[in-house]
Amino acid sequence: MAATDVLKPDHAANRRHFIFTDEHEQLRESIRSFVLKELRPHAEEWEESTFPDWVFQRMGELGLLGLSYPEQYGGQGGDYYCNLVLAEEIVDSNCGGLCMGVAVHTDMATPPVHIFGTEEQKQAYLVPSIRGEKISCLGITEPDAGSDVSGIKTRAVRDGDEWVINGSKTYITNGHRADFIVLVTKTDADAGYDGFTLFIVDMDAPGVIREEKLQKLGMHASDTALLAFQDVRVPDSAVLGEVGKGFYHIMWELQGERLIGAAGATASAQAVFDKTLQYATERQAFGRPISKFQVIRHKFAEMATKIESSRQLTYTTAWRFANGEYPVREISMAKLYASRIACEVADECLQIHGGAGYMKEYGIERVWRDLRLNRIGAGTDEIMLDVIGRSYGL
Ligand SMILES: Cc1cc2nc3c(=O)[nH]c(=O)nc-3n(C[C@H](O)[C@H](O)[C@H](O)COP(=O)(O)OP(=O)(O)OC[C@H]3O[C@@H](n4cnc5c(N)ncnc54)[C@H](O)[C@@H]3O)c2cc1C
Repeated sequence: MAATDVLKPDHAANRRHFIFTDEHEQLRESIRSFVLKELRPHAEEWEESTFPDWVFQRMGELGLLGLSYPEQYGGQGGDYYCNLVLAEEIVDSNCGGLCMGVAVHTDMATPPVHIFGTEEQKQAYLVPSIRGEKISCLGITEPDAGSDVSGIKTRAVRDGDEWVINGSKTYITNGHRADFIVLVTKTDADAGYDGFTLFIVDMDAPGVIREEKLQKLGMHASDTALLAFQDVRVPDSAVLGEVGKGFYHIMWELQGERLIGAAGATASAQAVFDKTLQYATERQAFGRPISKFQVIRHKFAEMATKIESSRQLTYTTAWRFANGEYPVREISMAKLYASRIACEVADECLQIHGGAGYMKEYGIERVWRDLRLNRIGAGTDEIMLDVIGRSYGL
């Protein structure tokens, strides 16, 4: 073969991944333009004040809160990949807390209502959630039980045709603004994993107390609540799914939450990488751009390889999930890997920025703080490793 016939590497090649179609790309474009125009300009302000509720109303108007929900409930009738597109594009808001608050609504609290809810529950909660008229939150974690979901103490006790709920939940995203909560309770202390039940509880019901707004390391644009439930009475129709099957229902929910988390973490890593690449070509030291030092070049090479691996793992797992498989092992791998590499990438990018990386002005320290949550929320690294290890019968 003549030397001229040898293919040159095409580093600008940008063929989209096979899971995405032209429609997904159009969706991507329109989300990006909304995010850049209407969300990103407020990123700094919302770090101080938390993001306003109108974001939900606006996203509801634009059809972005029900991308993969059926049209009969006001959704767009799209596939699961549409949710990935949203999770990736909203990262450009530069506002981690907002990304999390929206994801809790679209991919954590409302999916159980769609899958396990009665028709009345879907009309009362899913339809207004898709419109952005009701905001949701998800209550699993308690002061004394996080990773060990089976250790929760919140009790729901049947009393005639009502249930009485007592207990508390903590670290609840959207907990201060939410109109309803999808609540995990214990209904039979002696039934092991068959003793849990989900409820949909209106947040203005008597006995629901929104305690302090919790202060945290990052994700400042989101609100995080400590909640108390004191003799909260709900009707039997508030049971979500089957009585006694709540543990299995919430384990199903966590799979979608973890996969979306992996997509968001990977996209965040890509965004901070891109920003840092630009910085490294501009910042001069010892008479040249810092990107010209081999050490820095190799840092980028390492980061790019990790980001690409994370993306491929996430997309392939999403493809299996969207095609009817229930790939818990791979979802756990994707969640674990994406969370870890996002933190590693943010840390390297901060390093490459030098002192500027430590300054608020450049926004890198915020990404570094925000992304740290990924290794904790929705199941810690250690829990992901345990799920993966156990999947091999260990
Ligand atoms: C900002 C933020 C937002 C959140 N939003 C929500 C929300 O909206 N809804 C909600 O329900 N929860 C939410 N969470 C809670 C989150 O899911 C939990 O913090 C997480 O699951 C870990 O639980 P924990 O904090 O109780 O830690 P613990 O379970 O107390 O764990 C402490 C440490 O022990 C390790 N550990 C525990 N068990 C094992 C084990 N078997 N093997 C090895 N190591 C183990 C953990 O990995 C961790 O390192 C949020 C948390 C934060 C910080």
